[in-house]
Amino acid sequence: MVPGAVLQGRGVSPGRVAARAVSLAPALPEPDAETVVPPEGREAEVSTIEWAAVAVADQLRSRAERARGEARAILDASRLLASDPELVAEATALVRAQGRTAARAVWETSAAHEAALTALGGRMAERAADIRDVRDRMIAEILRVDMPGVPERDEPFVLVATDLAPADTAALEGGSCVALVTADGGPTSHTAIIARALGLPAVVGVAGATGIPEGAMVLVDGDHGSIHVDPDEAEIAEARAAAVVVTFDGRGRLADGTRVPLLANVGGASDAGSAAAAHAEGVGLFRTEFCFLDRTEAPSIEEQVEAYRGVLRAFPGRKVVVRTLDAGSDKPLPFANDDDEDNPALGVRGLRLSRRRPALLDDQLRALARAADAESADVEVMAPMVATVDEAADFAARCRAAGLDRAGIMIETPAAALLAAELFEVVDFVSLGTNDLAQYTLAADRLSSALADLNDPWQPAVLRLIGTVGAAGRAAGKPVGICGEAAGDPALAPVLVGLGATSLSMTPRALGRVAAALDVVGPDECRRAAEGASRAATAAEARQAAALVLGGGGAG
Ligand code: PEP
Ligand code: MG
Repeated sequence: MVPGAVLQGRGVSPGRVAARAVSLAPALPEPDAETVVPPEGREAEVSTIEWAAVAVADQLRSRAERARGEARAILDASRLLASDPELVAEATALVRAQGRTAARAVWETSAAHEAALTALGGRMAERAADIRDVRDRMIAEILRVDMPGVPERDEPFVLVATDLAPADTAALEGGSCVALVTADGGPTSHTAIIARALGLPAVVGVAGATGIPEGAMVLVDGDHGSIHVDPDEAEIAEARAAAVVVTFDGRGRLADGTRVPLLANVGGASDAGSAAAAHAEGVGLFRTEFCFLDRTEAPSIEEQVEAYRGVLRAFPGRKVVVRTLDAGSDKPLPFANDDDEDNPALGVRGLRLSRRRPALLDDQLRALARAADAESADVEVMAPMVATVDEAADFAARCRAAGLDRAGIMIETPAAALLAAELFEVVDFVSLGTNDLAQYTLAADRLSSALADLNDPWQPAVLRLIGTVGAAGRAAGKPVGICGEAAGDPALAPVLVGLGATSLSMTPRALGRVAAALDVVGPDECRRAAEGASRAATAAEARQAAALVLGGGGAG
């Protein structure tokens, strides 16, 4: 692989980090199929299998006890698989009837189970990794060899693998792994779920991942799904600086004391717990689709109520802005998006789904109203991917009919930004989704690393649209939040406030840096930086213009 090569995959957990690549320890070789155990030796092989199953279940139980949240649930699921009497019964039957060795019998039994799961496709196929993991543990135990898996290192490292077994990903907690890169896997794979829960940037489905040389420096960009092999020093330094977490005291403000609440973006209860621990002032974006990414059937209202209450519970008495399902495009939900679309980013995604499936939206709103009644958080609800005033008015009416009194919309399309004044006549607040707003303004796929320079919120066209929304919000006296990645950029945050943002919502790791950047500037400087940046002709000039007013390098 040539130094400087950029590999492309699917970013499933955000963040940028640079560290050396370390490969997962290789899988065990397939046990020999030719050996036939003589009848008098077969009972000994049978008891080896039974003992191995007990030992593996014990190992997984003690690891589950040390783990938390999703990692714990996954280890528990693997432990149940290891104790599955069917697996042991089928393997021991192969030994008794056909004289297979213990290792071979476990291999063949697992292969049959794995093939059955793979044939089912979708979510079940992704669970085949669970079976392989338990198989390898049992065979390693039978052969008394080391288990393949996550290597132990003192230095931070990027773990590179074909795919990760659930127990591998669960073993990452508290270790030195700082990012994940896999050749296989999808957005609902365990790798993706655990990476998000642990806050590790992750890119899956990377062709050529296993060709990354051991020990090579790699820059993993979980937002754009890219892996840069042997990046230059400046890029490494930038990624390292961004990775250091600065603490937040829980009160976002400008130098003169003007309040700018700093909120968190979350995808479920475990994220909400981390956000509360990081002193987020509330939730500015709860991406509800993240609760149901792997579902083939729509979740029931009861299930939804439970999932939403898990997030609301973490912020009693605080604001929680819940976004209705943003299914489609980069986040397809099997139960909601059943069509193949030529241009899914421009297709039936977000609020547009309610054209075909109004009940899906109404059920979600009912579930949110019930969750809001049961908890003390201040719940506000907003719709993604709005392009017209009619859509916004219809959404607000549905919210009110469901008993939700604060209804808003995300501004993610240039159409919505241009119509902000009219939109404020029908909704209570807006939140700018700058990730999509940049994508649609510059007409550049946000998942494409080749177009990353276009997907840049410093592009003056994007800044001017944000300014239009900010001005409309001021005129209407209504809140303008920002919840795209731009809100977590400390160089851009004062500019966004100057453009009219009244709150910023971001990944909890960014709270401290953004707070520190706002704490040293006044409202007037924010306004002047915003004017300079949005008058600029290019993104580079916009950064310079802001830096001229705010000081610092202005690097976004
Ligand atoms: C956005 O588009 O900026 C946004 C916050 O929504 P998502 O990233 O989930 O599309
Ligand atoms: Mg969006």
